[in-house]
Parts: sequence; structure tokens; C-alpha cells
Amino acid sequence: MNNQLLLDHLRCIPDWPIKGVNFRDVTTLFKSPEALNEITNEMFKLYKDKEITKIVGIESRGFVMSSAVAVKLGAGIVLCRKPGKLPCETVQESYAKEYGIDTIEIHKDAISEKDTILLHDDLLATGGTMKAACNLVKKFHPKKIYCNFIIELSSEFPNSRKLFDKDVEITSLL
Ligand code: 5GP
Repeated sequence: MNNQLLLDHLRCIPDWPIKGVNFRDVTTLFKSPEALNEITNEMFKLYKDKEITKIVGIESRGFVMSSAVAVKLGAGIVLCRKPGKLPCETVQESYAKEYGIDTIEIHKDAISEKDTILLHDDLLATGGTMKAACNLVKKFHPKKIYCNFIIELSSEFPNSRKLFDKDVEITSLL
């Protein structure tokens, strides 16, 4: 993979959204046709032989690559959203954040036991969001769960992967 191409297009915003956070802005990756193509092809290579039937994209930056890669893999897309955005009956999972509790949800009929799921988000930091998404997807008893990120902040958050069960395979591009 051309790591340098992606790094060249990634923008870091110091002290956003709060002081002390160095925010990795993936919108500059998404607006570059070359970077978008590189991420799509790399994710396709990683998962083309895994028989993925659905990609679960996490709101909202996780939706972008999920759709591009789902088309290439011949998979469907499931939206994992904040409460109150999905119109039909949902299954929910709540998790602790630094300040308070967050909840995510998926339509109750979105996943079946026959599915092999790729969960995708733009970035892994503490792992709280993806762990909650994994717990949520596990309620549907799919055949297998894979997790993918464009960016993993492994030096800032070295323990994030330890949150996940051993049978969940995790990959990150950067
Ligand atoms: P975690 O739950 O792993 O601590 O945080 C990851 C979630 O917060 C992801 O949904 C991700 O979109 C968002 N997030 C946290 N920090 C950043 C960042 O620096 N850049 C981007 N693009 N997203 C972030």
C-alpha cells in the first residue's frame, strides 16, 4: 500500500474539538481521488477472500469507505447510527465515554446469522466506539466479525486492541 500517499493527504487539526486533542481530519483523504482509490483498493485486497456479506459503517465517517468497498466486495451496507435516526425498530448498545453514556443502534432486521460482517470506522482511539459496535453486532449472532479502520492511533492508545475478543480480526491501514 502507498502509505505516503495517504499520510500526505491526512490533515491534523491541533486542539480540536477541545484543547489537547490532535484531530486527524479524514475529509482531506476522502476529497482526494487518488487517496480514495488507494483506500478502496487496499480494503478490497484485505477482505476480498473473506466472504463478507455486509459492511457495518459507523456514523458518520465510517459510512464513506463502507459504501465504496461494499460495492467492490458485492456486499450490502448496514448503518450503525446514533439514537433517533433510524426509522424502524432497532437493537441498541450503550457505552461509557469520557463524559457520560453514548448509545448506538442498528435496525433489528439488518443482520442475520448467515452474515459475515466487516465493521468499519475511520479511526481507532480508545476503542470504546468499535467495542460497543462489536457487542451490538454480536447480538445478531453473525458467522464472523472483522473490524477495520483507516487509522489506528496505536502509540497514543496502545491498549485498544485488548478490548476485543480474540475471534474478532482487526486491521488498520495506517
Ligand atoms: P474511540 O471510541 O476509539 O475512542 O474513538 C473513535 C471514534 O471517535 C470514531 O468513531 C472516530 O470517528 C472518532 N474520533 C476520535 N478521534 C478522532 C480523530 O482524531 N479523527 C477522526 N477522524 N475521528 C476521531
